Amino acid sequence: MSLLTFRGGVHPFEGKELTKDKPVTKYMPKGLMVYPVSQHIGAPANPIVAKGDRVLRGQKIAEAGGFVSAHVFSSVSGTVKAIEPHLVPTGGMVNSIVIENDGQYEEVKYQKAKLSNLSREEVLNRIKEGGVVGMGGAGFPTHVKLAPKDPSKIEYLLVNGAECEPYLTSDYRRMLDNTKELVEGLRIMLSLFDNAKGVFCVENNKPECIAALEEAVKNEPRMSVATLLTKYPQGGERNIIYAVTGREINSSMLPADVGCVVDNVDTVHAIYDAVINGKPAMTKLITVSGDGINNPQNFEVMTGTPLSELIEAAGGLKEGAEKVVAGGPMMGFPMFNFDVPATKTTSSILCLLEDPVAKAVPTACINCGRCVSVCPSHILPARLATLADRGDLEAFDKLNGVECCECGCCSYICPAKRHLTQSIKSMRRLVLASRKKK
Ligand code: SF4
Ligand code: SF4
Repeated sequence: MSLLTFRGGVHPFEGKELTKDKPVTKYMPKGLMVYPVSQHIGAPANPIVAKGDRVLRGQKIAEAGGFVSAHVFSSVSGTVKAIEPHLVPTGGMVNSIVIENDGQYEEVKYQKAKLSNLSREEVLNRIKEGGVVGMGGAGFPTHVKLAPKDPSKIEYLLVNGAECEPYLTSDYRRMLDNTKELVEGLRIMLSLFDNAKGVFCVENNKPECIAALEEAVKNEPRMSVATLLTKYPQGGERNIIYAVTGREINSSMLPADVGCVVDNVDTVHAIYDAVINGKPAMTKLITVSGDGINNPQNFEVMTGTPLSELIEAAGGLKEGAEKVVAGGPMMGFPMFNFDVPATKTTSSILCLLEDPVAKAVPTACINCGRCVSVCPSHILPARLATLADRGDLEAFDKLNGVECCECGCCSYICPAKRHLTQSIKSMRRLVLASRKKK
């Protein structure tokens, strides 16, 4: 059988054996909980609580600050201690609501619902009221994504279960442990799009998930499972669309422009919880893994929990661990301070004994062309990195540097160890900022 895939990509060490078969541990937080008002793409949410207020688990504590924005909820009951800037896993300082957990977990009353009793508007409103965003990392508000201009033009709802980043297994666990809820989540999404079919998209290194999903959708005429070739970055939005439908988009297009909506499995689970159970997005599955942690495992974590606690709960860092990354090894953010909270988009903490990137000494390009052959965006990484290093914004833009999806394949494959992604990423952001100004 030929497996679905895209052009380009690499095959890094997978590392998933470390955690994939371990049951998910529910982690109960100990210290102060921190809720950044920006855990999504778009306008920050506005705090609607004040210092000294008592809040309940599941209570809205910050209201969406615009159309493209999302509410934020407390995942514990307790008292608001402060509203102040706090460091987040991606490295910036973000205004955050700090709550002292009283350990009671007293919850608000959730309004359950049946899909058959809900109108389209009510479904979208429940997703919006649940603060659901792209939990796979992008953080785009889901109620906006599920309300394109013309819903009748959407033909594919692609549920992204590729989980192509090495070491990560939280989506793997989600697909195995919550198969039924995912099918119900997809049913909710399909209720918004009369002409669409729903496809669970899973890489072939997860045969257990493929089997479980195939069994679960065998009597669902509008649902199917697509088996994708295991290759990084198969889970990138553009790559998954191309692999399953053969359709292509660029950075100035939306998946809806080619009749597609793509949502990560964790997002589909959050959709189910928000619409059927009335529960907001306030928990996350997080993988803590790598050869630098004593007891790699997956945790179910309440948002706001300090990541330092998860490192401790996984047995702590091994002596001499050199690197800790929020996210996967290919696209994650290096962490220098672990006092950062788990957010709606945190998927993993990767702890490595060695930091090969820091040790690699870049040498001159030998024009081998490998970076070009692996680039899923079909651009010229070596040339673009040179232009970026020279600060030639115009030439960089002309060569389509903004099409870079920052996947890291070029740096990974480069025998000269050039920091291609880093250079391209920085210049790409400058180009986008300058376009915005104009
Ligand atoms: S140029 Fe960008 S898209 Fe292409 S391989 Fe490098 S990081 Fe990935
Ligand atoms: S992979 Fe590295 S050495 Fe080869 S062409 Fe690209 S930048 Fe040059």
